[in-house]
Amino acid sequence: MFFASDNTSGLPGPIMDALIRANDGFASGYGTDAYMDGLRTKIRRLFDAPEAEMMLVTTGTAANALALATLCPPWGAVYCHPLAHIEVDECGAPEFFTNGAKLVHVPGTDGKIDPDALDAQLAQSGRGVVHHVQPACLSLTNLTECGTRYSVAELTTLCTIAHRHGLPVHLDGARFANALAAEGCTPAEMSWRAGVDVLVLGGTKNGLMGVEAVVFFNPDRFWEAQLRRKRAGHLWSKHRYLSAQMLAWFEGGLWLELATQANAHAARLAEGLAGKLMFPRGGNMLFATLPRTTHDALQAQGAQYYLWPDHQQMNFADTVCMRLVTSWASSDAEIDSFLNIVTAKR
Ligand SMILES: *Cc1c(COP(=O)(O)O)cnc(C)c1O
Repeated sequence: MFFASDNTSGLPGPIMDALIRANDGFASGYGTDAYMDGLRTKIRRLFDAPEAEMMLVTTGTAANALALATLCPPWGAVYCHPLAHIEVDECGAPEFFTNGAKLVHVPGTDGKIDPDALDAQLAQSGRGVVHHVQPACLSLTNLTECGTRYSVAELTTLCTIAHRHGLPVHLDGARFANALAAEGCTPAEMSWRAGVDVLVLGGTKNGLMGVEAVVFFNPDRFWEAQLRRKRAGHLWSKHRYLSAQMLAWFEGGLWLELATQANAHAARLAEGLAGKLMFPRGGNMLFATLPRTTHDALQAQGAQYYLWPDHQQMNFADTVCMRLVTSWASSDAEIDSFLNIVTAKR
């Protein structure tokens, strides 16, 4: 019962096969390999964005931090939700790579930024006042950190507000594929057509071994981004192992197939946990409130998941909130085992 994260699974067969094929012979380094050329073309076609540029890195933290550094000067403000991964889970990497930009919280329920709150905050941002950080970009996450999903309309509303105030938009898409599969729209609709300027397209949580693409729909800042990546030590010399994986991921729509499987597993889990969920399910991540006795029984049976927030491990409240993430590799059997324990304790 492995529900700690969608990064705990192995690699799907076609990705491992692609790695083995890419292992054969020689390929030039630093992203000048033929797989990378194929991948660039593929992404431009998939996103209906012939001008787009993109680069690969191996962690979402590097992808986010380098993207934000490219969009935001040291005296800038990055507007984000208080639960955003860039705020909570990146150990200050965005602040570090931007040389000290400030992350400014914009509230909203279910992990989503409230458009009116964003508009109001940007209207009083202190632009032009030397004492204040200067508004520089909006950062969104889809799926959100609460496992909910921004619809295309919601994304468009937020991006439009940001653009009206002169801010570009960064989208943390660690679970972009899951959001896309659930929303049933095109990649373009969930990104640049909605107003996203830079997309972090996550592969690691959906079947790849450490591959994240940073896609610049406007290529103007791309050279700077490449220099920042190299300077940060994130330009891989043996780069073909990244590009070959992601190319295989897009082959025949595998990426969406994997995401659809992960989402379907979460739907099965959500059905069994009806009435216990804290947020509406957007894709493959759920948060459930359950009695501590159920948690103890699940732990005794070896179920893996995080309590959210994790300090609940140390307190003695009667109920706990657990984060449950399914992946393409989850099985109906492990979900049913989990639900059987929950039902038995009810
Ligand atoms: C997992 C995740 C990332 C990437 O994290 P890394 O551990 O640095 O690869 C980024 N954003 C969100 C929302 C995530 O869930």
